[in-house]
Amino acid sequence: MNRIELLAPAGNLSKAKTAILFGADAVYIGGSSFSLRSRASNFSMEQIEELVIFAHEHGSKVHVTVNIIPHPDDLNGIDEYLQALNAAGIDAIITASPAIITRALQMEDRHFEVHVSTQRSILNAASVQFWADRGVDRVVLGRETPPEAIREICAKKIVPTEVFIHGGMCISYSGRCVLSNHMTGRDANRGGCAQSCRWKYDLYDGQGNQISETETPFSMSSRDLQAARWIREFIESGVASLKIEGRMKSDYYLAVVVGAYRRLIDAIESGKPVTEEFLQEIEQELGRAENRPAGPGFYNGLPGKEVQLYRRHDETVTQEYIGYVLEEPQDGWMKVQVKNNFSAGQKVELFGPGIAPYPDEITKIQSLEGEMLEVCPHPMQIVKLRWDKPAKPGSMIRKQRDSQPEN
Ligand code: SF4
Repeated sequence: MNRIELLAPAGNLSKAKTAILFGADAVYIGGSSFSLRSRASNFSMEQIEELVIFAHEHGSKVHVTVNIIPHPDDLNGIDEYLQALNAAGIDAIITASPAIITRALQMEDRHFEVHVSTQRSILNAASVQFWADRGVDRVVLGRETPPEAIREICAKKIVPTEVFIHGGMCISYSGRCVLSNHMTGRDANRGGCAQSCRWKYDLYDGQGNQISETETPFSMSSRDLQAARWIREFIESGVASLKIEGRMKSDYYLAVVVGAYRRLIDAIESGKPVTEEFLQEIEQELGRAENRPAGPGFYNGLPGKEVQLYRRHDETVTQEYIGYVLEEPQDGWMKVQVKNNFSAGQKVELFGPGIAPYPDEITKIQSLEGEMLEVCPHPMQIVKLRWDKPAKPGSMIRKQRDSQPEN
């Protein structure tokens, strides 16, 4: 069985470090230029250099997206940018444009790999072979590739493959959508997608009469992908890398999702039996990252209406993440940064790098000056919690589901 890579997104340095500490074998980030997700907070070259050092110290890798579909003027400065990434010591670029791929492959003294982005809609072995013949090091398969085709492609051992396992789905083939361009003038393939597919739409008939949504529900928004049940299949197929989507997501989201998949991958690779109960626990854990419904995407046959989102377009931000652990407990007190308000008596769970979620209760809270507190209403405030169990810096505390402090 091959050792598979868990690849996580990161919108900034803090998120990248969180993903690595919670078990990502590699992170992918956007630089300040030539990257999609222009609204994600992208990295300066100094930050990329800092991240490369941190990642390599922790045995992880850094992939940089250079994945715009460039118009001629967009290529100004690309060679200098690729040289700077090379000097920074990154491990790979993820790119979709033949123009950029060619320039990267022709670089002398290139130390990074060239990965072909999902935007190229690579869904079959012949397409993989096409890019392998050009000299690329890896292809990212389209989210629309079914597991049987993934197995068939991997069996040919053409070039390593990467598949998506978690996160948002485009309603169109990735890289083929012009909804945003048409409706807002923002080019999805140059980093400006306005996510027009997730807007709320009303339907009208040819005479201008509104069609009732009860009669004809309409949606262009898909459920997110959640592929915990296919991880064993992908590992056994010989996939090189499992990719989580979402460079705009929070630190908490990354910690939960990366931590859950890390536990699952480690269990499978260690040869332990993965029970239905354990799988359900992982799925429940993944569901706690955010409230947007998830489904199997294209991994359970062609998606039907069960993977569409009808009349639900907003992602609700979870308020359950309440504290970030700054220091290990000392003399029964642990220093924590407040993330959302909570009070004494709150039933909580702590989870951290290498620590599976465990339940506890906040019995006492103290200010840094030693004053006993009943409530912590201010995000970013630093307090001490009475804590007797193990915890590491970087661990997170969240409310137990449906729990309120007893008054
Ligand atoms: S509008 Fe929707 S389907 Fe189109 S690129 Fe953006 S997220 Fe994807």
